[in-house]
Amino acid sequence: MKKAGWFFGVFLVLTVLAALFFKAAPYNRKFEKTEFLFDTTCTVTAYGKGAEAAVEAVFERLEEIHRETDMFSENSTVARFNFAKMGETIDANEDLTKILETAVEIGKHSNGAFDVTIAPVVQLWNFSGDGRVPSKSEIEEKLELVGLDKLVFEKSGRLGKNIDGVMLDLGGAAKGYAGDEAIEVLKNHGVSGAVVDLGGNITCFGDNPATSDGKWRIGLQKPFSPTGEFDDVVEIKSGAVVTGGTYQRYFEKNGKKYHHIIDPHTGYPSHKEYSSVTIVAENGLLADCLATACFVMGKEEGSAFAEMFGAEAIYK
Ligand code: AMP
Ligand code: MG
Repeated sequence: MKKAGWFFGVFLVLTVLAALFFKAAPYNRKFEKTEFLFDTTCTVTAYGKGAEAAVEAVFERLEEIHRETDMFSENSTVARFNFAKMGETIDANEDLTKILETAVEIGKHSNGAFDVTIAPVVQLWNFSGDGRVPSKSEIEEKLELVGLDKLVFEKSGRLGKNIDGVMLDLGGAAKGYAGDEAIEVLKNHGVSGAVVDLGGNITCFGDNPATSDGKWRIGLQKPFSPTGEFDDVVEIKSGAVVTGGTYQRYFEKNGKKYHHIIDPHTGYPSHKEYSSVTIVAENGLLADCLATACFVMGKEEGSAFAEMFGAEAIYK
């Protein structure tokens, strides 16, 4: 009798453990996919039931946002704006309107450190190609076209320009927005947790099954490390961790490095004593815009600026 009771006890414990395992299993199911979009490597990792369908849906949405915001694809909304003449207006649609609302707000409050009308100057440097150092006069000429006062952005979403040649570059905002939209898609699909990495723009939510506290641990890369090693870790439950760094995109000419974050006041790469700024914020769009703004503003001013938006800036 005693022996039967012991067996029964073990059987019961095993049954309960098995039930717990199979109940929990769907929440640990992982699906990960990587694609090249936004001119960078994009990886989406989701956990839980329906993770695969969710990740596929995310990439459809990412491709849609990329198509609208890519200044280099002729049919994008941004390209249509860039080709438009003074006096013409185009419909910014919902995505572009949302991006511009935050981008313009950060632009105005940062005294122009972040400026989405920087496009004519960025194009001179050809960072997406082999890179080229423009002459001072070329830069001065193109700086005439830079400034949010040259953009006509109505609440209705109509978008125009005050002078010919004004162009938009959403390279410093679109990936952040896309990260937020990816999280929306993942939530709507009911996954239990996910992390979205769009070339160093991280957004995440829900439970990380790989950690005991469910938090996401995001490694911060040591600038210019040949092996891409991490020298810092940010732990968050949800939100965004976005890094803007000189090592992410640059070219070398005559022994000098020229990186892709431009100071709109000078038209030259923002020259500072640090190599990267990581922003920890509640959403990706805000974090992306702040990363560039804080890089250009400098450590002291940038840290305080990030705080104004409830974010943290980490300089390296
Ligand atoms: P990322 O670090 O990937 O967000 O890249 C920043 C991108 O934003 C650059 O590749 C440029 O296309 C653009 N950009 C550069 N400087 C500025 C600036 N001061 N304000 C707004 N956008 C910028
Ligand atoms: Mg950025």
